[in-house]
Amino acid sequence: MTDLETDNLITVTRPEEIPAPYRGTPIGDLIEYHNLHRPFDPYDNAKLLVGMCMDSRKHLHMPENFAYIIRSGGGNLRHSEFKVSMAISAGVRAIALLVHTNCRMSNLMSRREAFITGLMENGGWTRDQAERQFDAYAPLFEIGNELDFVKSEADRLRRRYPKVIVAPMLYKLEDNKLYFVRE
Ligand SMILES: [Zn+2]
Repeated sequence: MTDLETDNLITVTRPEEIPAPYRGTPIGDLIEYHNLHRPFDPYDNAKLLVGMCMDSRKHLHMPENFAYIIRSGGGNLRHSEFKVSMAISAGVRAIALLVHTNCRMSNLMSRREAFITGLMENGGWTRDQAERQFDAYAPLFEIGNELDFVKSEADRLRRRYPKVIVAPMLYKLEDNKLYFVRE
């Protein structure tokens, strides 16, 4: 993450810093719970869908029963549409779309050899099997630049579900805080 990219983030250290469109929505609630440690409200039904990376280095501070979570490589929901629809159909009206710093799905192509040798060593695959899988699937899962990806993915989901609020956000591994991505 470069300094230029850091300029594209909105920091929230007080509730007033939440951008107006998200204030008083489940997205605003999420950042108040996670960044500001607001006391937890009780929930009977999930109000939010969180799309986030499968990466093990992240944990969200939020109440039980507050959110559905779909985890995938890079937080990419392009291949999870039925699950997104299911959450919305069950009453969710807001999606927090999270990318994170140092994501292994970004610039995936540079990790080809490590992927292949790791899969051979840990999974017992032949080089040929591992190469074929990487070459077939890496282009589908590559997210490129994290911030560009999350903005375009938010746009796509807004067009797809016009009544749902979608926020592109970043989870910074360096401080474990959430940020809004400036659009
Ligand atoms: Zn990741």
